[in-house]
Amino acid sequence: FFNFAIMEKQQMLNTLKEYFGYDSFRPLQENIIQSIFDGNDNLVIMPTGGGKSICYQLPAILLPKLTIVISPLIALMKDQVDGLKANGIEAEFLNSSQDAADQESIFQKIDKNELKLLYIAPESLQVLDRFLTEETISLIAIDEAHCISSWGHDFRPAYTQLGYLKKRFSKTPIVALTATADKATRHDICQQLNIPDAEKHISSFDRKNLSLEVRQGIKRFEQISKFVKSRPNESGIIYCLSRKNTEELAEKLQQKGFDAKAYHAGLKHEERESIQDDFINDKTEIICATVAFGMGIDKSNIRWVIHYNMPKNLEGYYQEIGRAGRDGLPSDTLLFHSYADVVQLQRFAENTKNKDIQVAKLDRMKQYAEALTCRRKILLSYFGEIKQEDCGNCDICKNPPQFFDGTVAAQKALSCIYRLKGKEPITTVVDVLRGSQNEQTLSKNYDRLKTYGIGQDISWNNWQQYILQLINLGYAEIAFHQGNALKLTKHAKEVLFEGKKVHLAKVPDRKLQTATTGKT
Ligand code: ADP
Ligand code: ZN
Repeated sequence: FFNFAIMEKQQMLNTLKEYFGYDSFRPLQENIIQSIFDGNDNLVIMPTGGGKSICYQLPAILLPKLTIVISPLIALMKDQVDGLKANGIEAEFLNSSQDAADQESIFQKIDKNELKLLYIAPESLQVLDRFLTEETISLIAIDEAHCISSWGHDFRPAYTQLGYLKKRFSKTPIVALTATADKATRHDICQQLNIPDAEKHISSFDRKNLSLEVRQGIKRFEQISKFVKSRPNESGIIYCLSRKNTEELAEKLQQKGFDAKAYHAGLKHEERESIQDDFINDKTEIICATVAFGMGIDKSNIRWVIHYNMPKNLEGYYQEIGRAGRDGLPSDTLLFHSYADVVQLQRFAENTKNKDIQVAKLDRMKQYAEALTCRRKILLSYFGEIKQEDCGNCDICKNPPQFFDGTVAAQKALSCIYRLKGKEPITTVVDVLRGSQNEQTLSKNYDRLKTYGIGQDISWNNWQQYILQLINLGYAEIAFHQGNALKLTKHAKEVLFEGKKVHLAKVPDRKLQTATTGKT
């Protein structure tokens, strides 16, 4: 019989040192482990790299029976288990890649209570059914627990069956772990796992060593080339929206002499493994990947992460940039923001099951990308952390936007939207403002409008940026259901007729941008 309560701090520290080589716990690790020994269910929210694994691996060593670790990452199980074995911990994994003989030898180990940790994919749980009883297991760890929630960004249908675990093993503590932090998902995880009273441990999401930067998505390849060129021999990931993008980008980078490879779920299993291994072992510097890449990858020296396209929400974004700088050293992140991406993401979001939630999440993502105040504050506030101080390590803090009296520009843009009767998208509004001669404009007789060509003094790109600011200021809105037509809001009349002043932020000079953010 094991008495949970008598686990002492010294014993925990000794085990930490003996098996993992560390002298002290990271914040929260000790509380979580203690709570597991107390027999509680626990929900652990920690950013990637925060040190979640030890929270169940260390108890597993000290607890008398088996710890089951449910993980979606079949490809990584072997590495994880090899790592544990190298540290002298009895661990195995069970998944569909093994033959009957392999599995049989694991079943025997379970019977003889020779195993401390068993990693298993949720799909494979049934195979274990007859071996598991309340007598044979001490702890159930559910890694990447957000996969259970269809509100999260990585929903795995096989996770939804995990709710039965608590019903069947009511006395066995469950620890659910994830790096996804938003409240709705948190709640959903506990509900679905039937652990409503789980102790919640939520660590700070602030990763001060990651610099944050957002740039306009124009001439992206040129910008990326400069970026990677100024960081020789550094590992980095470029996230793209589609498989095709990853391949095209990798190829273009190779042509420029960079050491880049594409990675996506469409590649053969062996190919993915070898690309991943080469990256982990510093044999490949740059990976152009879809979001399929990176979950669970244990590489501490990733020095930068670029988002070629905007992610669909801040959780995904944060998890992806969080793969950089896990060793705590300064690392850079760069997000490209483009209006076209936003429109595409909006369309995706509107066609999903939880449309309202997805659209709201995309809105927060946009707010972040279009922010004119410290980005880290905005990011952390999304995860419920309110900071008073600006961070000093984002592009806005380093290069605060300069505001100017943009009233006249605002009046021009708003009256142009008015003349176009709220029927045309931003691109057409800008074309009309700039007096474009293109077919669209001429065929619709927009050259006869009063506002045609009244904005030739401002570049196309700057107009687009100013209009996005006017949207954020609440003077105009995009009707995504009506061909992305730009419409006035009721506040527009304050600017058009009531003399209200508008302060616009200058569009950053791109030359200056690259000069100040290159390696120093
Ligand atoms: P997560 O699963 O939260 O992404 P990991 O469990 O993989 O993070 O841990 C990230 C890194 O931090 C690993 O290299 C791990 O060995 C290291 N680590 C974890 N706990 C400690 C600790 N108490 N002291 C020092 N390093 C630690
Ligand atoms: Zn900042």
